[in-house]
Amino acid sequence: MTIRTRFAPSPTGFLHVGGARTALFCYLQARHHHGAFILRVEDTDLERSTPESVQAILDGMQWLGLDYDEGPYFQTERFDRYHAVIEQLLMQNKAYRCYCSKTRLDELREAQMAAGDKPRYDGRCRERTDVPDNVQPVIRFRNPETNDVVFKDRVRGLIRVANDELDDLIIARPDGSPTYNFTVVVDDIDMRITDVIRGDDHINNTPRQINIYHALGAEPPVFAHVPMILGDDGARLSKRHGAVSVLQYRDDGYLPQALLNYLVRLGWSHGDDEVFSLQDMVHLFDIETVNKKPSAFNTDKLIWLNQHWMKTLPAAEVASHLAWHFQQADIDLSRGPDLIALVEVQAERVKTLRELAEQSRPFYQDFDAFDAGAAKKHLRPVARLPLEQAGKALRELTDWSADPLQQAIQQVAESLEVNLGKVAQPLRVAVMGSGVSPSIDKTLELVGRERTLARIDQALLFISKRESNQR
Ligand code: GLU
Repeated sequence: MTIRTRFAPSPTGFLHVGGARTALFCYLQARHHHGAFILRVEDTDLERSTPESVQAILDGMQWLGLDYDEGPYFQTERFDRYHAVIEQLLMQNKAYRCYCSKTRLDELREAQMAAGDKPRYDGRCRERTDVPDNVQPVIRFRNPETNDVVFKDRVRGLIRVANDELDDLIIARPDGSPTYNFTVVVDDIDMRITDVIRGDDHINNTPRQINIYHALGAEPPVFAHVPMILGDDGARLSKRHGAVSVLQYRDDGYLPQALLNYLVRLGWSHGDDEVFSLQDMVHLFDIETVNKKPSAFNTDKLIWLNQHWMKTLPAAEVASHLAWHFQQADIDLSRGPDLIALVEVQAERVKTLRELAEQSRPFYQDFDAFDAGAAKKHLRPVARLPLEQAGKALRELTDWSADPLQQAIQQVAESLEVNLGKVAQPLRVAVMGSGVSPSIDKTLELVGRERTLARIDQALLFISKRESNQR
């Protein structure tokens, strides 16, 4: 049998890291077994679902590189099918119309609570034959009254729930729209899902869903309910812990590979290994070894993995993600060094792609002002001679690459009998505007000849002005 998994988000917000981890586990389970991975958008809650959220889910999946074999399916496009199945259940007497008013249900609930009982529908309309006027009924599923529902969850182990704990679930609202527990079963049957992997906030729904499978004459899939993700303070991960949206991690400069590597380790492990490429994950992942304890999000570890993957992935791959950040920052890439060369020099110096893009701006754009602190320290009158000499030596260079650049600066330092820093630091501030950059030879190579020479002149002018102000 081919393994078929699905990720079934409700588009009521952004794609958050918990959802992304579920998606990743579904993806890995399918890929590991050479099966199919399906994306299904559960948008039946018309009031809370938004097109922006659908787009955020699709963008998040694409950015993460979790490609699906089928879908996206949309539940709102399947209403005819749900209605047909509801009709079938009504005909078979496996579902019934319930005309109980809200007032009655509220009273029932209150009485049950007052008696210390679990609130549940009492089945009053189960055998009802009359049809009250002017009441739009809901449709309820006739839940079995005896026996237990038993299933073996692959993460949580054996689960047993007595049917008399479960009441008759509403499967269609008064306006006829079907509800979650019902649509999810119809879809999982129609889409031939073999493995349901989802957050453990759904674990209480599963026995009810299993009963619906049986009523529809279908074999339930196997279930795996994965534990939630906590913040570093032990509370359920939420916005106040910082970024929780997948696209926010993109915006903040993380590589999808780093986030995936980080997410796979939230609940799953393979020995003491921390670093997994997507290929490794596909090869090694096993849903049975997912831990049932909640795991806590740790941003420092994510940053560490991001640095690791920035240094380790092929520069061209890092460059393709970096290009997006330059675009966001409105930096024209045609006016500076090749991105791959940039990644090779910068990747190990920064924590994120965003930082990389920000620190690399002077390679592509001129700046109006020197960083005040750096200029105060390094563009002083004593820097005039080193800068003039460096400008002269560099102007004569025919090969504008790191080695000859390094030699030229070295020679200037030697001829002035100063250490290299006395030439390199003013030069760095002159060409980058600040004191932060890669080694001076690489920096000059990336800045390029014309810009370097022009910026040295600009720095000399700055020093002159400073001198005349002091007089
Ligand atoms: N749509 C549900 C959610 O976003 C998931 C349903 C499922 O995976 O069965 O929580």
